[in-house]
Amino acid sequence: MEFLFLILFLFLGLIGYAIGSGKGRGTEGFFLGLFLGFIGWIIVACLSKVETGVMCPHCRSMIDERATVCPKCTRAVR
Ligand SMILES: [Zn+2]
Repeated sequence: MEFLFLILFLFLGLIGYAIGSGKGRGTEGFFLGLFLGFIGWIIVACLSKVETGVMCPHCRSMIDERATVCPKCTRAVR
């Protein structure tokens, strides 16, 4: 019986991982799914994507790769 629960929790975690991995949050997704199950999946789905932006050539801060103007120094990026 305990073995079945183990499989179930692993399954919950893997689903969470699958949802989170697309956003670069695989590990967070795994643990949220593991401990919270269905609710954890919803939380992972609502989490924002991990910042994978580009560096502003003027002030060296990370900004969204689609941005044309840096939000920090307000200078044109391209
Ligand atoms: Zn800047």
